[in-house]
Amino acid sequence: MTAAPAARIQPRDDLLELAGYHSPQLDVSVRLNTNESPFAPPPAFMTEWIAAIAEHDYHRYPSRSAARLRAAIGAQLQQPATRVFAANGSNEVLQTILLTYGGAGRRALVFEPTYALHSHIARITATEVVEADRTDDFTIDPAHAAAMIRERTPSITFVCSPNNPTGTVEPRATVTAMLDAVRAVGGLLVVDEAYGDFADWSALDLVDDDQPLVVVRTYSKVWSLAGLRLGFCVAPEWIVAALDTVVLPYHLSIEKQLAGELALGHVAEMRARVAKLVEERGRVLGALDAIVGITAFASGANFVLFRVAGDGRAVWQALVDRGVLVRDFSRWPRVEDCLRVTIGTPDENDRFLDALQDALAEVATP
Ligand SMILES: *Cc1c(COP(=O)(O)O)cnc(C)c1O
Repeated sequence: MTAAPAARIQPRDDLLELAGYHSPQLDVSVRLNTNESPFAPPPAFMTEWIAAIAEHDYHRYPSRSAARLRAAIGAQLQQPATRVFAANGSNEVLQTILLTYGGAGRRALVFEPTYALHSHIARITATEVVEADRTDDFTIDPAHAAAMIRERTPSITFVCSPNNPTGTVEPRATVTAMLDAVRAVGGLLVVDEAYGDFADWSALDLVDDDQPLVVVRTYSKVWSLAGLRLGFCVAPEWIVAALDTVVLPYHLSIEKQLAGELALGHVAEMRARVAKLVEERGRVLGALDAIVGITAFASGANFVLFRVAGDGRAVWQALVDRGVLVRDFSRWPRVEDCLRVTIGTPDENDRFLDALQDALAEVATP
């Protein structure tokens, strides 16, 4: 006798409408679509890391508190280790924040267009998402933000600065005004500084044990370690303690903790890579400004968003046909016909700019 076919279990109802997070990974020669560093980490770091891994006992669990890693991050940022929480990429930091302070019956406020993972992870954790708008220059209007925070009383308010995908850096006064509003409603302000080292100021020095502020950072961009999957945040001790109770035990592998600690010994090389990319960002922005039919937006990150007069999707495809992959935002609300190019090596940037001229000519005169 065969059992009657059972109905297949389905994901939770509120997850059915979610689309997964996808940035296409195409096999082309110039990949400028995911804001990775074009430079490999220093060879001396790789040698130190591999040697350190070989000395470890892999039949034992890693340090649960990742104490050495947290101390190293704290020392580099002149913060106590007790204010540092680390996880598998800053996305896991964001997820842990949402698991701890979001959830059913709570709200998260985002300012669109912004990093899609803030609202995506909020929804996965059953946190209601409230979307607010930015101004025409993609900055956040502090009065509007404060009003939204007062009216909607979000548990978590996200600010991405420099903002992905626009590159916009919020002025310090905007962040402090938002922090005041968040504090007044008993919420939490999360400043995502994945690109903080490319900008001219950071909210890190606003972190204080009396402020409901978390600043999130990552090894994926400035530390040239996107493949490692390591991120962290700096927050008041009581927030770090709450995150520690929620995150899975032993979530950071031995080799990851070692890499995170050892990478920080090469801060001069990191700063040199950042300086090179900032210089190239200026050059790419200048070149884009000189192209008729392109509007490029100022950026404090390692990428530039630009709008194409005409069909952005067609230009994106014409770039792919020339072996250059950028990120297509042409169908995103508020950034219609926009593409985002990651700053690469000087040679990659030249190849992008050449391909763009050709692509625009092709799309204009098919
Ligand atoms: C790239 C990026 C991150 C990094 O995520 P990881 O999980 O650390 O790789 C976080 N926030 C923003 C806004 C980003 O663009």
